[in-house]
Amino acid sequence: MKCAKCHGRMYAETFYSHTEAFHGWRCLMCGDIVDPVIFLHRITGDRNIPIPERNEDLIRLIAKYLSLKSAAACGGTGRNPPRGV
Ligand SMILES: [Zn+2]
Repeated sequence: MKCAKCHGRMYAETFYSHTEAFHGWRCLMCGDIVDPVIFLHRITGDRNIPIPERNEDLIRLIAKYLSLKSAAACGGTGRNPPRGV
């Protein structure tokens, strides 16, 4: 995965707060941190997209959008995927 800000290489990391842990990616070059919610907003371009409460559902939604984008890049319709997929 490449950083949206500087195109540097990003690596997966687990981040910890006082109450929870979450998985995300950190840029080796600029230190930008992207969590799954930020990533979903970036790939959909929809800041109002409903975010699933369970992490498994969020990851499934991201995978679905990535596969739709991949299909569009390989000769699909090129249209944005429908909301709530
Ligand atoms: Zn960066």
